[in-house]
Amino acid sequence: MFYIRNPMTKDPFAPPPDEIGTEFDVIIIGAGPAGMCAAMYCGRGMLRAVVLERGIPGGELLNTEKIEDYPGFLSILGPDLAEKMAEHARQFGADIRMEDVVSVVRRDDGIFEVATTTGAMFTAPAVILTAGGTPTRLGVSGEAEYAGRGVSYCAVCDGAFFKGETIAVIGGGDAAVEEADYLTRYAEKVYIIHRRDEFRASRVVQERAFFNPKIEVLWNHRVLEMVGDVKGLTRLNLEHTVTGAKSDLAVTGAFVFVGFMPNTGLVKQHIVHDPAGYLITNDRMETSIPGLFAAGDLRVQLTRQITTAVGDATTAAIAVEKFLTARKSGATSG
Ligand SMILES: Cc1cc2nc3c(=O)[nH]c(=O)nc-3n(C[C@H](O)[C@H](O)[C@H](O)COP(=O)(O)OP(=O)(O)OC[C@H]3O[C@@H](n4cnc5c(N)ncnc54)[C@H](O)[C@@H]3O)c2cc1C
Repeated sequence: MFYIRNPMTKDPFAPPPDEIGTEFDVIIIGAGPAGMCAAMYCGRGMLRAVVLERGIPGGELLNTEKIEDYPGFLSILGPDLAEKMAEHARQFGADIRMEDVVSVVRRDDGIFEVATTTGAMFTAPAVILTAGGTPTRLGVSGEAEYAGRGVSYCAVCDGAFFKGETIAVIGGGDAAVEEADYLTRYAEKVYIIHRRDEFRASRVVQERAFFNPKIEVLWNHRVLEMVGDVKGLTRLNLEHTVTGAKSDLAVTGAFVFVGFMPNTGLVKQHIVHDPAGYLITNDRMETSIPGLFAAGDLRVQLTRQITTAVGDATTAAIAVEKFLTARKSGATSG
């Protein structure tokens, strides 16, 4: 195993790229906030890192309108913050490539093989998985059109935009019922729309919602269509799941909490996760596979925000440096 300086840092002693071969110190999968922050720290730490991103850098920031809870920016549009993060990471030598990763396998010698849809294979002794997750969409007409203009998948992020308004939460699990309760600190009225006649949420969460005078539950209803105008969402078209009766509900916001799928299926070996598939790490962001680190939305944690994603990524990048140093000195089994 050899360790080389980052070729982007203009280090006069660094070997030219064509002498380096294909091996990296670390492969970062995903260029959302966590991936870009990890790349920035790895660059500053003189590691030879590559970031593999299936789309354009930004992750969920690209689906977010206004962000008002990222320190240093009173208000910034998601795509603008994404651009700033990518530029910042590149300043420190981030090598961001458009590649869709299909598998991550750790060989017996401790080297990871990361394969992509183009047939490329990237290798390194450490991987930081920052592939995020995907909120489950309802898949109804108008949902995509009004996303960011009334339709949201994140109460902490967007709740404050609905002060004094009437909104709906769709879902019946813990996330939906808990977030409905949370949203009443902003909204005047919150309808919970649930397709069954009972919640899956835990009893204590349900009781908090039932005792909240701002919440009204519409049992046995599902959303057929989201309707709006140039300003954004104005109403939901509903169907009663038992009688089939149709109705309209006037709301300016609709928060969809019908599931969230962490993008962890790329790892082809057993990896410790919780029942919902979120990766369990220690406080260095190390997963149960030596050399595989996880940061951001795909990790088990209390909340999922940009700040938590970049915090995780900072820890992961620094932990990778220490892991590589220990590996070089033969102090790790990997
Ligand atoms: C609608 C919405 C609004 C939000 N608003 C806010 C807000 O106002 N404030 C706030 O703090 N947080 C907000 N959040 C949450 C915040 O966006 C996330 O917590 C944050 O983006 C997580 O960063 P991440 O890097 O872990 O994951 P992501 O942002 O999800 O990035 C993951 C990246 O990995 C890539 N990827 C996935 N699979 C692969 C693969 N196989 N190969 C290559 N690349 C892959 C994806 O394309 C993506 O770019 C919002 C989220 C949503 C959905």
